Amino acid sequence: MTFVVHGLPVARGIAIGRAVLVVSSRIDVAHYFIKPEQIETEIDRVRMARNAVAEELQKLQASVALMGPNDAPHELAALLEVHQMLLQDEVLTGGVKHWIVERLYNAEWALTTQLEVVARQFDEMEDEYLRERKADLEQVVERLLHRMKGTAAVLAPTPPRRKRTAEDDDQDLTAADAFDAPLVLIAHDLSPADMLQFKKSVFAGFVTDVGGRTSHTAIVARSMDIPAVVGARSASQLVRQDDWVIIDGDAGVMIVDPSPIILAEYGFKQRQGDLERGRLSRLRHKPAVTLDGQRVDLLANIEMPEDTLGAVKAGAVGVGLFRSEFLFMGRESHNLARLPDEEEQYQAYRRAVDGMKGMPVTIRTIDVGADKPLDGKSQREEFHLNPALGLRAIRWSLADPAMFLTQLRAILRAAAHGEIHLLIPMLAHVSEIRQTLSLIDFARAELDNRGAVHGNVKLGAMIEIPAAALTLKTFLKYFDFLSIGTNDLIQYTLAIDRADESVAHLYDPAHPAVLRLVADTIAECRRQGKGVSVCGEMAGDVVFTRLLLGLGLRSFSMHPSQILAVKQEVLRADTSKLEGWAQEVLEMENPAAALVRT
Ligand code: PEP
Ligand code: MG
Repeated sequence: MTFVVHGLPVARGIAIGRAVLVVSSRIDVAHYFIKPEQIETEIDRVRMARNAVAEELQKLQASVALMGPNDAPHELAALLEVHQMLLQDEVLTGGVKHWIVERLYNAEWALTTQLEVVARQFDEMEDEYLRERKADLEQVVERLLHRMKGTAAVLAPTPPRRKRTAEDDDQDLTAADAFDAPLVLIAHDLSPADMLQFKKSVFAGFVTDVGGRTSHTAIVARSMDIPAVVGARSASQLVRQDDWVIIDGDAGVMIVDPSPIILAEYGFKQRQGDLERGRLSRLRHKPAVTLDGQRVDLLANIEMPEDTLGAVKAGAVGVGLFRSEFLFMGRESHNLARLPDEEEQYQAYRRAVDGMKGMPVTIRTIDVGADKPLDGKSQREEFHLNPALGLRAIRWSLADPAMFLTQLRAILRAAAHGEIHLLIPMLAHVSEIRQTLSLIDFARAELDNRGAVHGNVKLGAMIEIPAAALTLKTFLKYFDFLSIGTNDLIQYTLAIDRADESVAHLYDPAHPAVLRLVADTIAECRRQGKGVSVCGEMAGDVVFTRLLLGLGLRSFSMHPSQILAVKQEVLRADTSKLEGWAQEVLEMENPAAALVRT
C-alpha cells in the first residue's frame, strides 16, 4: 500500500530505489560495505563472537546452578536458557549471514539489521510473553556486538555490487529487480562519521527520522549531491528492508511502495532534473561575473581532501571551507588512533592543496562537539545536553592545546606547498582570539626550532555567534578576513537547535535579525577592505544569491554540487540594481516574501 512520509528537504532531486534500513542500536556500530573477499572473515567474526557469548552464558548458567534459590531466582536460570536459545536461533544467524553475503554489510551492520527484522516480528506477536522476548534478543545482540569490538576489518573503499548469478536469474522478477535497483538509505539518524562512509558508496538517496536542514548529517548529504530528506520522524519505523521508495528531495517527502502511476510520474521528474543538470553543466567554464561586470568568487566547501576533485570539476576557484574535523571522526570503529597525528594531518592538508592546483584552500581548525562527536554517540544522546552551547570548536581546541598545536603545525607545514587560509570557528571573546593567535605563534616557533619548512597563512575568523557579529571591529583588528557561518549564526541568533527537527519550522535564514547581522558583517569588512565570505548553507541557496550580492558579498562558499546553480544566478544579476533593493529587504518585517528565485 502506498503511503507518504513528510520531512525536511535537504538535497534536491528524485531518487527511486530499494530501502536499505540502517537501524540504531544502543551500542554504536560502524556501517560499511565489505569487499566480496572479506565475506568469510565477516562471517567468522560473527561465529567467533557467538561462540564466545555462548561460553559466557554457559559459565553464568553453571554459577547460577550452584547458587541456592535465595541467591539466584528460578527466573534467572530460565532467562539464561532463553538467551542461549536466541543466540543459536537460525533466524538470527541465518539472517545475519544473508546481509553479509547478499548485501556486503559489515558484521555489525548485518547483526543490527537482522535484529530489526526479527524485532518487528516479535512486535507483531499476539502473545505478550513472546512479545517481551524482544528485549532478550536485544540483549543477546548487544553481547555479540561487545564481543566483536576491536575485530573490525579494514575499510572497503566502495561497496561493490555483487555480480548477478544464475541463481539470481532463477528468482522471481521482483527479487531480480531489487538486485539491480538503486539503493536508498533509511535511518533513524546517521552520525557524520557514518555519513562519511556512505559518501564513498552507491546510495542514490537517503532519509533520516531526525535532523534539521543544517544539521551536519544534512550538510554531508548535500555534499554527496543525492536527494535527501531529514526530520522524517518515524520513517525508519514505517519502512522495511527492500521496500520500494521514492525520495523527493525538493518537496521533502518519501513515498513508500508507490503505485505504477506514481512511479511513472516521478521517473519523468527525475529525467527533467537530469536535463536541468546537463544544461547547467555548460556554465562550468564560464567566469562568474555579473551583468554589471562584478567578479564573484564561487568557492567549495569540502569535508575530505579527495573532495577537491569534485570542487575543481564544478569550477570552484578555491576551497572556502575545509571542515577539517571530518579527518578526526569515526576512527575508533576502524581501529585507528583516536586522533590523526601531525604527519597524517599534514599529508591530508597537502593533498587538498595539491588537489586545488594552485587555488587557495581555507582550512578551518577542528570543529567537533555539538552534533559532530568524534566517535560514538553525541553528547546530546548521552547526557541529554544541548552541546551546541558547550565545549565545541575553538573552545574544544583551546581546552586541549596539545591537540590544537598538532593541527596548527600540520596546517602551517602544508602552507609551504600552496595558498592556505587558516579559519578559526566559533570565536566570541577577545581572550579566545588572543589565546588562539599566541598558539599559532607558538606552533610556528616549534616548527622553527625543529627546522621544519612551513609557509605563511592568511588568518580568518568565522562569524557564527551574534556576539562576534556585534563586535566586528575587534575581530577585524586581529584577522585578515571573516567568513560568515550562517548555519550557526541562525541557530544562535534565533535560539533554534539546528539539529532538532521539532523546531525546524522556526529555523529561518531570512529572519530580519539574521539578515541584519550578515549585512553588517559584509559592510564592515568592505569598509575596511578586508575579505569576507559566507560559507554557511545560505551561500549555496539560490534564493539568497541576489540578496547577498546586493549586500556587497563577492565570495560565496558552498557544496560543489550547488556552484553551477548559484553561478547561473550571478550571471543574471545586476548588482547596481540590487543594492537599493537589498537595503529595502533589510527593513522588511517579513523579508522571505521578497526572496524568490529569478
Ligand atoms: C556554519 O556554521 O555556517 C558553518 C559553515 O559551519 P558548520 O556548519 O560546520 O558548523
Ligand atoms: Mg558553524
